[in-house]
Amino acid sequence: MPTTPNPSQPALEHFLCCVCGGSTAGAEDSVLLAVTSPKGPTEQWLGAHAEHLNDLLAPGFAVEVHRM
Ligand SMILES: [Zn+2]
Repeated sequence: MPTTPNPSQPALEHFLCCVCGGSTAGAEDSVLLAVTSPKGPTEQWLGAHAEHLNDLLAPGFAVEVHRM
């Protein structure tokens, strides 16, 4: 049975890391960030490598990769 892509959960292979600009396709630590606006239901999705994202975060914040 074909599955219909869920637009609220875009496929990881379409994303580039927002830190290094490299593709996250096939990366074991690839993550998606959902950025929302208080002004409406719109969402912006950003891809990243968890390791690169951790380099940017303030102390005390960490990105965990949860396998689906
Ligand atoms: Zn990266």
